[in-house]
Amino acid sequence: MALNVLVVDDSAVMRAMIVRTLKLSGVPLAEIHQAGNGEEGLRVVRDEWVDLVLLDVNMPVMNGEEMLTALRAEEATRALPVIVVSTESSDTRLARLTALDARIVHKPFPPETLRAMIAEVTGHSGIGGSHADEHDVAALASDSADF
Ligand SMILES: [Mg+2]
Repeated sequence: MALNVLVVDDSAVMRAMIVRTLKLSGVPLAEIHQAGNGEEGLRVVRDEWVDLVLLDVNMPVMNGEEMLTALRAEEATRALPVIVVSTESSDTRLARLTALDARIVHKPFPPETLRAMIAEVTGHSGIGGSHADEHDVAALASDSADF
């Protein structure tokens, strides 16, 4: 099952980097939506089917913690998987985000880390470890070529 992902970050450069990392991660993707702050993000969640949110913390208008709080207050989005993409070093703030059932990934992060975390939060067993599978397939192909 391909995932519809929403990337919320006030930096267009950072959104582009996250989208690129997502594509490199090998996670099966359907739609990728983008929003520049929490308020825009909530609008997208209401209007579109979203399976996963990648959420920045510091944003104008509505920050990541406020958006996450709003998501958790709504029945329809109470359990929506959220990964907070953060440079935040404040442990108390990160603890509050974790208490709202978000996972934290620190910038910058490699595609493999993102993939593992997405597999975990979405409970998507088909996502984990496909790079290893690809290598296994390549190894099998070269083995059989030897025969
Ligand atoms: Mg920001």
